[in-house]
Amino acid sequence: MSAIFAVDLGATWLRTALISPDGRRIDRKARVPTPENAADAARSIEAAWRHAGCAGAVALATAPELDGDGVVLRWPNRRNYEGAALLTDAIRRLARLALVDDATAAALSAHDFDGAADEITVCLSIGSGIGGGAVIAGRPLMGAHHAAMDVGHVPVPSAVGLRCACGRDGCLQAVASGRALRRQYGYHDLFADPAAESALRLATAALAEALAILQAMFDPERVVIAGGLGLSPLFDRIAAELKRSGVALAIAPHRHGDDAALVGAAIGLARGLAPRASTSAAMSPPAARGDPRCKISSPSGYQPGRVSTKAASGA
Ligand SMILES: [Zn+2]
Repeated sequence: MSAIFAVDLGATWLRTALISPDGRRIDRKARVPTPENAADAARSIEAAWRHAGCAGAVALATAPELDGDGVVLRWPNRRNYEGAALLTDAIRRLARLALVDDATAAALSAHDFDGAADEITVCLSIGSGIGGGAVIAGRPLMGAHHAAMDVGHVPVPSAVGLRCACGRDGCLQAVASGRALRRQYGYHDLFADPAAESALRLATAALAEALAILQAMFDPERVVIAGGLGLSPLFDRIAAELKRSGVALAIAPHRHGDDAALVGAAIGLARGLAPRASTSAAMSPPAARGDPRCKISSPSGYQPGRVSTKAASGA
């Protein structure tokens, strides 16, 4: 199988890359601030896909919930995306597609498929919003409505009385997400602001409460933390809080860092573990090799031996 074009759409960043099916090689990494609306995001995704040579397989990891056609069903953090499509006709026509929740994708890329596939991996992704994912015996936990592990909306004691973007009170996300913290303290470095200390303490306590729930429910072999806020100095605070509160749980930062969802989306598609999207592409589409708009900037396109971690600014 050739390289997979992976997309990670979060509330803050839209990331793209070409990734080998085993998730080990990453090329043509690019990142742009998340566009204001879905039409701009769809155009940006198609431009990056063309720049990467119009790969015949496209894997999307997204914060919002999508339907099988890549239309945004629900995104409390970005309501104006709801009802609009993230995939252009060209991609739907020319590529094989898989769609997966971003935190589930991060759980897939944290799971040890080669060594200990039967184990349980749980991932908590803490960014603008908070998501969760689990891989159990080599399969992602999806749920009846593809909404399993919606950890951001689990009620926790430290969030009692706080209104969440989903409309309910007391969700983890209402106290511990980047969005909740930024609403109170703006975009500067929270960890250098003494005024943010009490909010950070409350967020840390809430995250430890949620992790204790996950520990009790899954007894997992591996719990990893992903997301921009999760991989910030907040990580050490959470680990210390778990220890202080006597929760027998060791957490680890995600091994793929900011690439966690991108890599997991590609692994999900390659292993047939991510739901397929409706597509008009043939089983083995030739992509658009004859299309002059597919700008492969090196003669042979994706090169398996080559690793580039340089983030492009455009795409
Ligand atoms: Zn909620």
